[in-house]
Amino acid sequence: MTLAPGGSGLVSDAESRQMAFDLGQKPVGKPTAEAVDLLIQATFDQHQPGFSLPPVRVSARMRRTLGSYMPSRKQIAISSRLLAMGDENDIRQVVLHEVAHAIVHDRWGDKPSAHGREFRSVCNEIGAKPRRFVDVTTGEWQSQIRYLSKCGHCKVLIVRKRRMRSVRCVCGLKLYPQSWRAVAPAEGGETGDWVML
Ligand SMILES: [Zn+2]
Ligand SMILES: [Zn+2]
Repeated sequence: MTLAPGGSGLVSDAESRQMAFDLGQKPVGKPTAEAVDLLIQATFDQHQPGFSLPPVRVSARMRRTLGSYMPSRKQIAISSRLLAMGDENDIRQVVLHEVAHAIVHDRWGDKPSAHGREFRSVCNEIGAKPRRFVDVTTGEWQSQIRYLSKCGHCKVLIVRKRRMRSVRCVCGLKLYPQSWRAVAPAEGGETGDWVML
């Protein structure tokens, strides 16, 4: 039911957000959680009328998976890392994969195997790739990921490519960070803004 990452991107603004998934429309800005919900509902309206789900859950805890569907809660979850760093097509493919799981469950309950015949047929119906895994370019994401900690003394943010055991702050203090936060540079990134992953 879950997707493994195969291999980048960021959160942004833009008033045409919800248009980002419209066919024929040039994407403006990156999809947001709201745009993901619109894609999900539009797919249901067309292929499973009357069905709906609670808003998509964006999870910062999903490390090895990009998306999941939990039938007991009727909950689609996607990784915050996917939303922040995936391109539009990455996000679309992961979301539609989970939508296919949701439709299979609504139609046939627990009987079908996770990625079996019913799943593949629903994928073909809704325009998802009928595969167990979705190829996204998360390999490229890795090069953008940074780890952020804060100096307890001067409060300056310390950013490194790896979770180091120890770092020397600009104030001269040697730090042994208890934890590092995974971050990505915000779009347009020169300003030093970071998006939490
Ligand atoms: Zn799956
Ligand atoms: Zn310091």
